[in-house]
Amino acid sequence: MIVCRDRAQLRKALDGMRGAEDGIGFVPTMGYLHDGHAALVRRARRDGLLPVLSVFVNPLQFGAGEDFARYPRDEAHDLALAEAAGVEVVYLPPVEDIVPATPRTQVTVPSLLEGMCALARPEHFPGVAMIVLRLLARVRPRLAYFGEKDAQQLAVVRQVVRDLEVGVGIVAVPTVREPGGLALSSRNAYLSEAERRQALALYQSLQAGEGLLRLGERDPAKVRSRMWEVLTGRRGVQGEYAVVVDPDRLAVPDRIVGRTLLAVAARVGPTRLIDNLRLWVPAAGGPSALLDDPEGAEGRERQRIVAANVAEAVAVAMPERTGAWREAAVDAVRGATAVDPQTLVQVLAGVRVATPRGEEAADAADLRRLGALRP
Ligand code: AMP
Repeated sequence: MIVCRDRAQLRKALDGMRGAEDGIGFVPTMGYLHDGHAALVRRARRDGLLPVLSVFVNPLQFGAGEDFARYPRDEAHDLALAEAAGVEVVYLPPVEDIVPATPRTQVTVPSLLEGMCALARPEHFPGVAMIVLRLLARVRPRLAYFGEKDAQQLAVVRQVVRDLEVGVGIVAVPTVREPGGLALSSRNAYLSEAERRQALALYQSLQAGEGLLRLGERDPAKVRSRMWEVLTGRRGVQGEYAVVVDPDRLAVPDRIVGRTLLAVAARVGPTRLIDNLRLWVPAAGGPSALLDDPEGAEGRERQRIVAANVAEAVAVAMPERTGAWREAAVDAVRGATAVDPQTLVQVLAGVRVATPRGEEAADAADLRRLGALRP
């Protein structure tokens, strides 16, 4: 693993890699690395790219009175974790190497910054966008990897990269959680043991929202209010927001259907935490409800509809997956249209694994195996 401390060293290291026809998969981070960051690196490897990782605690994305000065830092730990995860090049720029001396440009997406974290942190996303764009310009990766954990950041980065035709694919990676459900975050280091337990309220409120959707609720106000109740019901947790929005425009739908983002933010003690769940919500009921009577009068037709719906869900819910993966997923599901109910259940289970919900996504090979189950 090559360690670069300024842009000249970075350029030299990347020049040495340009010959590699595979291309670069870039993972920008603020360090204090954990398994969530490692998942982004592993995903880049799995996509056949050479992972380049940056560690930079970006002052532009912290507001006055926020935790910039005390944000956790541990270079030795970061280098060891990066190397173990399979990083080829680490870029650790000092501030003057990457932050413009007199930044006059502002990169912002007003319609995505009307709610959620932007309300409490108005400077945050323009600060992120500025540095992400500078990093992308320097690293020039084929794909850049971002965690779903930071849902609003992901939406903003995608929009900026699309609008400015940056020419880099943005890949979203599912949130890695502790066994109890707490999303991994460098800021978890701030939490006491008691606060760690209180912090479970974030994931529990998301699960409560999901539970209502499973029961058929499709009114965003009702789901939101249930999430808020669970989030703020625990002592020590001060809720900041709970929202039900579509994950691209971050707008509240009239009725919940299709791709949906449940997102929350709260303070646990002094520490601000965020979390979210991405779901694909069928218009009514759920896939398992539709499978109740697969051999009944309309059994075959129902299976066909379910499989078509799931194929559609895979196609729209995961546009960021590499082409090969998506094709394999859609193929596998379409291949299930003429199979027995048991196989269809297996395919649906495979898609559930593959759907970003915190589990490690199934890879293309798994889905091809599912596809191969067709008679
Ligand atoms: P950070 O160092 O917190 O700025 O995060 C760097 C990248 O890692 C961002 O794209 C985050 O969304 C992503 N990330 C952070 N925590 C997790 C997690 N628990 N699971 C997956 N990705 C994460």
